[in-house]
Amino acid sequence: EEKITVIGGGLAGSEAAWRLAQDGHKVILYEMRPNRSTPAHKTDRLAELVCSNTLGGTEITTGAGLLKAEMSILGSLVIEAAKEARVPAGGALGVDREVFSNYITERITGHPNIEVIREEVKRIPEDRIVIVATGPLTSEALTEHIRELVGHETLYFYDAISPIVEAESVDFTKGFWGSRYGRGGDDYFNCTLTEEEYKVFYEEILKAEKVKPKDFEKAVHFEGCLPIEEMAERGYQTLLFGPMKPVGLKDPRTGEQPFAVVQLRKENREGTLLSLVGFQTKLTYPEQKRVFRLIPCLRNAVFVRLGSMHRNTFIQSNRSLTPFLNMRKRENIFFAGQITGVEGYAASAATGILAGINAGRLSRGKELVVPPEETMLGSLVRYVTSKEGELQPMNPVFGLLPPPEKGIRGKKRRKEFLAERALNRMVEWVENLQRG
Ligand code: FAD
Repeated sequence: EEKITVIGGGLAGSEAAWRLAQDGHKVILYEMRPNRSTPAHKTDRLAELVCSNTLGGTEITTGAGLLKAEMSILGSLVIEAAKEARVPAGGALGVDREVFSNYITERITGHPNIEVIREEVKRIPEDRIVIVATGPLTSEALTEHIRELVGHETLYFYDAISPIVEAESVDFTKGFWGSRYGRGGDDYFNCTLTEEEYKVFYEEILKAEKVKPKDFEKAVHFEGCLPIEEMAERGYQTLLFGPMKPVGLKDPRTGEQPFAVVQLRKENREGTLLSLVGFQTKLTYPEQKRVFRLIPCLRNAVFVRLGSMHRNTFIQSNRSLTPFLNMRKRENIFFAGQITGVEGYAASAATGILAGINAGRLSRGKELVVPPEETMLGSLVRYVTSKEGELQPMNPVFGLLPPPEKGIRGKKRRKEFLAERALNRMVEWVENLQRG
């Protein structure tokens, strides 16, 4: 049977290699450290956590918690290691980072089916089954090759994430639906601001606290995609000619063009999540909540994701990948981890498991699979591989799940229902996999 190649021994690559090896496949895992490192990694360990030492919340009624519960059902090595390395961290799964990555390194290097080669891969071998899991800081040479493979415009070097709010929490009386110049129907909700409201908003943005970029991020130029606070710094008018411009919009309530608008766009089919168009930002999280809630329709907004901007290598999976995580054009090349446009340790690792399952199935001539859309992993993978328009990284959030089949009162009970449904579906799915 052919050996399967995994490139990158981070969170996703370790999970993928582990899953393949446990399923009886021979695996070659390439990791470039310590010969070559990234600007964020510090050790030669596999699955090194580059920043925070927590894998997010544990409650199954949070997106990250539900995803981790699903990963346990899938036999995740990362969750096994996290339990071994656990340290108290309130409601989050905190780990001792050394114990964590040592555990994973030992399990992987000690597995009879896995050979670890410490070498930078510069080109993806195209004649075999490969999983590319080289992460947000993929080496330069390989990035260049991936770019050729997926097409130049579909590889991004940084993310520019705008905040996303729950549609339920938006005050739709403080604006109107409609696109500029009446094009495209009701794709946008326009939150209106009067001159007075804009002034307050503008002044608070200037005062707000910003996240300092890491050294290796300072050189990044965000052409055509400036953080809003940087636009604001250029002058009072800049936002009014940028993302907050009112031209082409007429408020049906007054028959006039508003002074300024913030446009909200549907992030998913159901329209339960709305993003603030053009509002990528480096304001700190508490400051984003404070300042964006000055926008009248967002006074009580619930943010499911806040804005950010990082150096981040990721592909437009919605144009390049199938939901099974292999390329539409080349079925033998899979992608996993943050490079697919998912965000965070847990989500990166989870996509590694799925890529591992499918690479193994492909080598045995079996049909490829994806967990049901009612699961967090299933909905997240569908989102990144099928979102319309531009893809920016997404983390596991409840708004991605299809709504309950029946009406359920109360937010808490609704989340409990969705979480239980997801876990049941995942258990069934895994049982089916094991049968054939
Ligand atoms: P990685 O874990 O980065 O693994 C990729 C591996 O591939 C690395 O070991 C790398 O050395 C190797 N590699 C790269 N190129 C090659 C090559 N050509 N040949 C061979 N090997 C190669 N997420 C969170 O949840 N919490 C955080 O606090 C957090 N902080 C972050 C801070 C920074 C600075 C960055 C960049 C990201 C952060 N993330 C965080 C996001 C993300 O979850 C992590 O980066 C996560 O490690 C991604 O998993 P991965 O497996 O996709 O990539």
